[in-house]
Amino acid sequence: MAERVAGVRLAPYTTLGLGGPARAFVEAGSAEELVELVAEADRTGEPVLVLGGGSNLVVSDEGFDGLVVRVASRGVAADGDLVTAAAGEDWDALVERAVAEGRSGIECLAGIPGQVGSTPIQNVGAYGQDVSQTITAVRVYDRPAGRVRDLTAAECAFAYRHSVFKREPGRYVVLAVTYALPRDGGLSGPVAYRELALRLGVELGERVPLAEARQAVLGLRAGKGMVLDPADPDTRSAGSFFTNPVLTGQEAAELELRAPGFPRWDMPGGAVKVPAAWLIENAGFPRGYRRGPARISTKHTLALTNPELAARTEDLLDLAREVRDGVREKFGVTLVNEPVLIGARL
Ligand SMILES: Cc1cc2nc3c(=O)[nH]c(=O)nc-3n(C[C@H](O)[C@H](O)[C@H](O)COP(=O)(O)OP(=O)(O)OC[C@H]3O[C@@H](n4cnc5c(N)ncnc54)[C@H](O)[C@@H]3O)c2cc1C
Repeated sequence: MAERVAGVRLAPYTTLGLGGPARAFVEAGSAEELVELVAEADRTGEPVLVLGGGSNLVVSDEGFDGLVVRVASRGVAADGDLVTAAAGEDWDALVERAVAEGRSGIECLAGIPGQVGSTPIQNVGAYGQDVSQTITAVRVYDRPAGRVRDLTAAECAFAYRHSVFKREPGRYVVLAVTYALPRDGGLSGPVAYRELALRLGVELGERVPLAEARQAVLGLRAGKGMVLDPADPDTRSAGSFFTNPVLTGQEAAELELRAPGFPRWDMPGGAVKVPAAWLIENAGFPRGYRRGPARISTKHTLALTNPELAARTEDLLDLAREVRDGVREKFGVTLVNEPVLIGARL
């Protein structure tokens, strides 16, 4: 059984480089170990934080007063179209492997940091794909029930950056994820994102060789500081800090009065999705906007960064609050954070 270490600083385990110490820290090298560690903590009433790659986490300066279990399980197995990967596998490496094997369905999700086990949590997505399109099953440890279960995709209740794992935080520990990734003549899924289609020089709905799709996505992402790079201070972030607000028809009509002709994606059922980046920029927060040691990325309005690794969590949250409040005042829309906040509130 892995060793518990007291007082480990969490900042180096997050892509923001933020967060105080954990009361105890342990690595789980297998699914069995992960279950055992969490079950034991649950028996003794010790709070647990399951830590993946730390790329979607904002941990408070006070840290976490409980047990942090870092997932380090490994293993990938294929059965026909189905590929099952252990929670601790690196996500981007799985995408690269699928593309090399001629499997389509996740090529546009290249360059997203973090682990396989975190992908169902917020239904990771980019450039027209999200994992709800390919996940067929998620093996979990159901903490209240005290047993391992396989959830179907329907039971995961996937929606935009949302799932049952976000609806019932802490209930499930993800142990492994199964994706349907068919070999389809070495071609990508139909290109569903305008910016990607433009980069590839194809029409929306066309298909391209898998490796081309992956490279184009990596190029687009790097240009926005969205691929981790120690040499690029703009990548010291948690990705997009705010989700794109989804408004009811009534809310959209109210926004139209304040911002005639605002950019929008019409959604099923009359809902309207608004680009958070547009709201932020038009509320007076351009790229590179700084508040002390925290800064909006110089390449991507949605990413809040700790560029010199000199900020505290509270500095980053102060910037987030300023942006949220500025957008609410100007447009009457309340932005919601995408990363998970540990011991902190916006
Ligand atoms: C530069 C950059 C770009 C990004 N781009 C995108 C993007 O394009 N699209 C996108 O959707 N996201 C993006 N993200 C966000 C992030 O990469 C994803 O959300 C990723 O899936 C998080 O994985 P992680 O392993 O780092 O999770 P962590 O940050 O470690 O954890 C996130 C949450 O999941 C929980 N968790 C982790 N592992 C498990 C497990 N095995 N079982 C149960 N709960 C678990 C944690 O407790 C926490 O609540 C980006 C982040 C960065 C830094």
